[in-house]
Amino acid sequence: METTQISSRTQKVAEDYIQQTSLDIVPIKTETTKDPTLQFAISCMQQDKWCSSQETSQIHFDKDMFKSLEKVNSSLTTDGSIVLRNNQLVIPKSLQDKCIDLAHEGHLGIVKTKQLLREKISFPGLDAKVEAKVRNCISYQSCSDTHTQEPLRMSDCQDAPWIDVSIDFFGLTRQGEFVSSTPAKSTVPTLDKVFSEYGIPKTVKTRQ
Ligand SMILES: [Zn+2]
Repeated sequence: METTQISSRTQKVAEDYIQQTSLDIVPIKTETTKDPTLQFAISCMQQDKWCSSQETSQIHFDKDMFKSLEKVNSSLTTDGSIVLRNNQLVIPKSLQDKCIDLAHEGHLGIVKTKQLLREKISFPGLDAKVEAKVRNCISYQSCSDTHTQEPLRMSDCQDAPWIDVSIDFFGLTRQGEFVSSTPAKSTVPTLDKVFSEYGIPKTVKTRQ
């Protein structure tokens, strides 16, 4: 009875998780099976007996990760194949970076990347890993939570139109030029077309 309840709850969270991310449950299960720390934690959960550090010192696995799991063991459940912490999937070590990469895909800052991850997953050291990842991101300038916006700069008023031109990307508008994607290879021909029609401006401003 108990096992069935845990199993269906685990299943539900796993299904929700799949729907909202591109990370599949299969690699999570497979990698959990290969993860000695999670395997040992699962056996502790199944026996309802968490080992002392002395006993675990002989086993080859991540002691820090195990200790962190042991600390929160009252909130852990398992169906034997994956581990949940409350309603969050505990991610095996081999997939942790991939999860952070997925959550940081839109170059969110530290706080938002953590929020996105914590909605569905958990693993010891998540905070530190996210912080390192976002700080090392090439686009850090644009993904910092504390990023201060540049003050608005007013343009000087010109004597004629089409001298200073500003461009930006918008979705689903009826006006403007249509580009199928935003990289230079589709933007440049569009700008060529606009400038050949209206003339070449003195300056072109973009947001990035
Ligand atoms: Zn980034």
